[in-house]
Amino acid sequence: MLQQVNGQETSSLPYGNDPLSKDLQVFLGSDFQLAELDDLTKVNPVTPATVLKCLQERYQVDVFYTNAGCTLVALNPFKPVPYLYCPELMRDYHTTPQLQKLKPHIFTVGEQSYRNVKSLLEPVDQSIIVSGESGAGKTWTSRCLMKFYATVANSSASQETHKTVERIEKRVLDSNPVMEAFGNACTLRNSNSSRFGKYIQLQLNRAQQMTGASVQTYLLEKTRVAYQAPLERNFHIFYQITKGASSSERLEWHLPEGATFHWLPNSERTLEEDCFEVTKDAMLHLGIDHSTQNNIFKILSGLLHLGNIHFDDSEDESQVCQPQEDAKCFVTTTASLLRIPKEELLETLRVRTITAGKQQQVFRKPCCRADCETRRDCLAKVTYARLFDWLVSVINGSICAEPSTWTTFIGLLDVYGFECFPNNNLEQLCINYANEKLQQHFVAHYLRAQQEEYAAEGLEWSFISYQDNQSCLDLIEGSPVSIFSLINEECRLNRPSNATQLQTRIESTLSSNASLSRNKFSKDTNFIIAHYAGPVQYQIEGMVEKNKDPVPPELTRLLQHSQDSLLQKLFPSQEKEPNDLSGQSRAPVVTVVSKFKSSLEQLMQVLHSTTPHYIRCIKPNSHGHAQRFQAEEVLSQLEACGIVETVHISAAGFPIRVSFQSFLERYDLLRKSHPPQPRPSSRLPSSSPTKEHSGQQATPEKDTVLHALIRDILLTLPPTAATV
Ligand code: ADP
Ligand code: MG
Repeated sequence: MLQQVNGQETSSLPYGNDPLSKDLQVFLGSDFQLAELDDLTKVNPVTPATVLKCLQERYQVDVFYTNAGCTLVALNPFKPVPYLYCPELMRDYHTTPQLQKLKPHIFTVGEQSYRNVKSLLEPVDQSIIVSGESGAGKTWTSRCLMKFYATVANSSASQETHKTVERIEKRVLDSNPVMEAFGNACTLRNSNSSRFGKYIQLQLNRAQQMTGASVQTYLLEKTRVAYQAPLERNFHIFYQITKGASSSERLEWHLPEGATFHWLPNSERTLEEDCFEVTKDAMLHLGIDHSTQNNIFKILSGLLHLGNIHFDDSEDESQVCQPQEDAKCFVTTTASLLRIPKEELLETLRVRTITAGKQQQVFRKPCCRADCETRRDCLAKVTYARLFDWLVSVINGSICAEPSTWTTFIGLLDVYGFECFPNNNLEQLCINYANEKLQQHFVAHYLRAQQEEYAAEGLEWSFISYQDNQSCLDLIEGSPVSIFSLINEECRLNRPSNATQLQTRIESTLSSNASLSRNKFSKDTNFIIAHYAGPVQYQIEGMVEKNKDPVPPELTRLLQHSQDSLLQKLFPSQEKEPNDLSGQSRAPVVTVVSKFKSSLEQLMQVLHSTTPHYIRCIKPNSHGHAQRFQAEEVLSQLEACGIVETVHISAAGFPIRVSFQSFLERYDLLRKSHPPQPRPSSRLPSSSPTKEHSGQQATPEKDTVLHALIRDILLTLPPTAATV
């Protein structure tokens, strides 16, 4: 069907005459000037400028995918391009024998991974690492790949298994709207931004049918429940329930039409009604019945009411703060929705209990207004985070196959890209640390792939000493001392944190690391890390507190007293209180960075055991406009996702790759003027890396003849010319 995608023979395409199929035919059949530059490392010469130019020209003619060695660069079209993701195209990529002959596409990556699983004697797990900055298209890409596998991984199933597989696939796909409703939000950079990282493993049996999947999530941005930056929004699900609830649900959940909530800013948009139905249906398919859904939505409504509770300052330190006059009703509603005693809710928000002395005497200390509100926010964050984790575990319970029913998996990693904002704190440090880890993994893989290619070509080449990012990783997470260990140490000491002191400690203990510096002109306490993607200045103020992520024990106790069956599951009564920093618990403090580090280490272990594939998503402009290519924006993303680095490594090797055919066309003349000398055989390329791009079908015999001719020509060329 797609024998000649780079050529003209597309008339046999079986897609009919609808507009979609015309677009598809244009995509398959067009003969662009830059068609031979399907791979950025083959741009000649390889420089950031030429790479950029190539991407730009391709973008202008609606070519969104380009290879960069073993990576696929995916530009966000910012417009609907349904012909690129239709099932017909999926099947074509699935059935075409020589994938390299097809245009670069996420389906090439998807299909290659699928074939790898099958073609190897010992099945090897695969992973597709999708990265890029917010709004670049990571989640879209992962979703499309899941649909791709749902379409192709079932095609060979028998009628009977077909139904079972289809049911599983439906559930796997249904996990997307649920996780997006609870984990995505509208931000300045993406109206459907995922506020968590995700690694989903699609489990395949020996017949390569999808028998299930499992999801692992990372670092949900739970602060968003109680704080939304100007012009940003809370998680989608809150808008869905307030807009989409039926009148009886409104009554039960205390959500009268037009009610306003402090934690629900920018709620003018109207699409949520429809989404709510989709979310509820998907939850049902995942086994979350109506009654449990009702509990979930009641809790969410309870959190919205909680956000409307504001306090007045107390008269003096010995007095508790009173809820503001118009907030009193919200205390009652919150207590009723969360099914907790109203008095206990108020007491918990307003009073800190301290246990001290040999007799374990309990002291009550009224909180100031700001502390009351911090405790209120903390209550919302801990409840939402547990609800999200519980949902993920339910989803896993519903989609995960029995270990005996699958043999391999294809993992899709959709994680936040490198971040550098005017203010960077612990969240950015964790995200950028994850990106450093992934970059290290990528470079190791890329260098290995290059080395293998050169070896196959019979080329003798030693790698130039390559500046890897190990020192940066040592700085962040190394032992015995690193930024992480110093921040953790502050948490363990449990003393009032002092940013200046921490800055001094970081400077004095880690100054020998070349990746560390400080902005001496900045008013804030800070440190700068030279990441592979560029320097980032981190503010130290608040970092230790964020790392502790303390939950006052009274808050957990309050939720343990709830009569609601779901809250009872989220806060089991026998559980130890997490991160109780009051000195009442002897359990070691589990900090945010230590938790994140260990989950990332687990992930890296899994990735190391798989064959990786990389998709780098790029935003052509920051406004989400179609057909607009902002070169500077793109270049900084190419730098941040390591493409420029890839191109540099590639340029340090053999950047110019000429197909045997064009080499001959150019130099055959020389052979004629210098008849070849018979010589003993030398090591010669065994295959051409670019023969696919020449559009020629090189057969083994033809290759041998070409090799011989090239050898003859090379032997006649002066030494300098031969090393071009
Ligand atoms: P990320 O997950 O990287 O933050 P998303 O995948 O949510 O970004 O993409 C942001 C938006 O860009 C999507 O909501 C969609 O409108 C658009 N988009 C992304 N990829 C595509 C694509 N391949 N085709 C059309 N639109 C896309
Ligand atoms: Mg996303």
